[in-house]
Amino acid sequence: VVPTVDTVEIVPSFIRGSWWTPDAASAAGAAPVLDASTGELLAKVSTEGLDLAAVVDYGRTTGQAELGKLTFHQRALKLKELAQYLNGRREEFYALSAQTGATKIDSMIDIDGGIGVLFTFGSKGRRELPNSQVVVDGPMEVLSKDGSFAGEHIYTRIPGVAVQINAFNFPVWGMLEKLAPAFIAGVPTIVKPATPTGYVAAAVVKAIDESGILPKGSLQLISGSVRTLLDHLDYRDLVAFTGSASTANTLKSHPNVVKGGVRFTSETDSLNAAILGPDAVKGTPEFDAFIKSLVTEMTAKAGQKCTSIRRAIVPQEQVQDVIAAVGERIRERVVLGDPRAEGVTMGALASREQLADVRAAVQSMLDAGGELAYGTLDSPKVTSADGSIGVVDGGAFMSPVLLSWADPEAEEVHSLEAFGPVSSVIGYTDLADAVRLAARGGGSLVASVCTNDPAVAQQLVTGIAAHHGRVLMLNREDARSSTGHGSPVPHLVHGGPGRAGGGEELGGIRSVMHHMQRTAIQGSPNMLTAVTGVWHTGADRNFTLETEGQHPFRKSLATLHIGDAIRSGLREVTLEEITKFANSTGDTFYAHTNPEAAAANPFFPGIVAHGYLLLAWGAGLFVEPAPGPVLANYGLENLRFITSVAAGDSIRVTLTAKKITPRETDEYGEVAWDAVLTNQNDEIVATYDVLTLVEK
Ligand code: NDP
Repeated sequence: VVPTVDTVEIVPSFIRGSWWTPDAASAAGAAPVLDASTGELLAKVSTEGLDLAAVVDYGRTTGQAELGKLTFHQRALKLKELAQYLNGRREEFYALSAQTGATKIDSMIDIDGGIGVLFTFGSKGRRELPNSQVVVDGPMEVLSKDGSFAGEHIYTRIPGVAVQINAFNFPVWGMLEKLAPAFIAGVPTIVKPATPTGYVAAAVVKAIDESGILPKGSLQLISGSVRTLLDHLDYRDLVAFTGSASTANTLKSHPNVVKGGVRFTSETDSLNAAILGPDAVKGTPEFDAFIKSLVTEMTAKAGQKCTSIRRAIVPQEQVQDVIAAVGERIRERVVLGDPRAEGVTMGALASREQLADVRAAVQSMLDAGGELAYGTLDSPKVTSADGSIGVVDGGAFMSPVLLSWADPEAEEVHSLEAFGPVSSVIGYTDLADAVRLAARGGGSLVASVCTNDPAVAQQLVTGIAAHHGRVLMLNREDARSSTGHGSPVPHLVHGGPGRAGGGEELGGIRSVMHHMQRTAIQGSPNMLTAVTGVWHTGADRNFTLETEGQHPFRKSLATLHIGDAIRSGLREVTLEEITKFANSTGDTFYAHTNPEAAAANPFFPGIVAHGYLLLAWGAGLFVEPAPGPVLANYGLENLRFITSVAAGDSIRVTLTAKKITPRETDEYGEVAWDAVLTNQNDEIVATYDVLTLVEK
């Protein structure tokens, strides 16, 4: 039975906690979704009758409330759990992904890559954020002479929804790369995938719903068009758009963005470059790595990657070698066809519309002076799922195309993005010329610099960095271990300036902060402490030995509070002990051993105590030695020696519980203690944080 628009199912939306499809009458005008390789009708999408205002409201109310019950660490753990769950269901997603024209490797980039983002944020969220809901940004600024008034910056989550409007090329990764940071921040997400591949995103959201892991309202999905969605958003909300520059321009000129303050970021077309260094001639590992990378970027996902190399910028005298090597590698390695057929390494474009767009873009480039150095615009013969070879009328197949340009200045090579298996080779004269040509992309997501000469790398990378979101340096040392030109990694920024849209969708915890508002807060140290949950210098301390008869090291996390403190008595420093420390450690630096030389030093009055001696004494002065809840000291942070200590001076330590971070999955947590060493005149000798693990 050949499916028709009446018989295929509508891809459902997941809104307000349940699955929704339009009624039969409303769905009459639903848009068809076709198999990329065969043209077979797979499904249809429609949002006719969907109440967008209610979707936004549900996110702002239920989603915000449910996410607000969790700390950063609890949310991060949920992402980890979700990643593990989705990992177990990958096969289902691969099968659907193949219908979009994606090969198994393409599908893994999308699906495994997306799950990988969840894992990374699941881990980073717990390692790099506090186990609370407020992030302190930078140190406190003391604003009054007596220290009673100070200011600092905090981040709290934005109070609305994070809307993602996604491109067709990565229905899973595109969704999860935006979901992860929004979720950790505590902001509910509304996903709007692109029509041609949205059914894959819907299958993943269905699995997420079935897992029961995410809190209610934290994720909603709209399958189908959302032309009026921005009408319902305001300054509380964020839109992260991926797709064409023209749609981005339409959306960012919406009055609610221009006047209403909707936070809008976009990731759009990008004429990414790869630059071959003058040293990387044919026969070098760098030349081979360059060719391999260029062919991978042309053919992976049939070139439908925002990060694909569109411009290979190579020394003028190497243009012909590059063209020959690319052709050779494509002929050897690339088998075009239905991804479900054995041996196929490059699939179809996502849709016939996309194919038409790409062909038209290539034609414009040919008209502007580009020449076909490899490939053809004719319909290629491809391998079908049954193994037969021939032209498939309904399929969106296209041969890889490499263009060469006699005139590297032609505007079109730097401005037209053919979003398919298409790249151009252009020649440069010297490094300054290469930098200039790369910059003509008008702002790009990523560039590669392929050289084994550090001076060339330095000149090229510093020259092009400000035009790019990411720069990969490829040489013989990392050619095998590199994650590749086209793969954004969750730890590093994904986005780019100018034409690339100006967004920054990834970048570790940096991308979480995009979903939070930075606010300057001012007040007394006690109030700053109350708001942030972190003890601030100048705030009240509780000397627990005096008030509770208990050393703070005897308190587990159940009873320890920030501000709990201990102050030691004074201990005198003698010359004998300085000498003993110098001899036993071998640190006989003259300031500790040679009175004349020490006195000649502008910082010291004469022989002074080693900073490390004072730290060790500090530990001796604050410690409570019996076995107890304090398990280990795992480091010091922010150590500064301020006033030198000479023989005859005395020191004391004041130790205050500053930050308590219980771990969700362990029987202990981290306690950072504010430590201050002072001398007999109450002058500050040293400040540092002591990091300990303490039982719950
Ligand atoms: P579009 O900009 O047309 O669509 C991208 C997304 O925006 C889709 O989800 C689309 O939904 C949605 N959309 C379109 N118009 C509106 C609107 N008025 N209001 C709200 N949402 C809207 O891009 P395509 O996906 O069609 O790709 C076209 C080009 O975009 C490519 O050729 C390529 O140049 C570029 N692109 C860039 C990518 C990148 O990562 N930088 C990735 C993919 C594409 P719907 O499907 O319902 O129309």
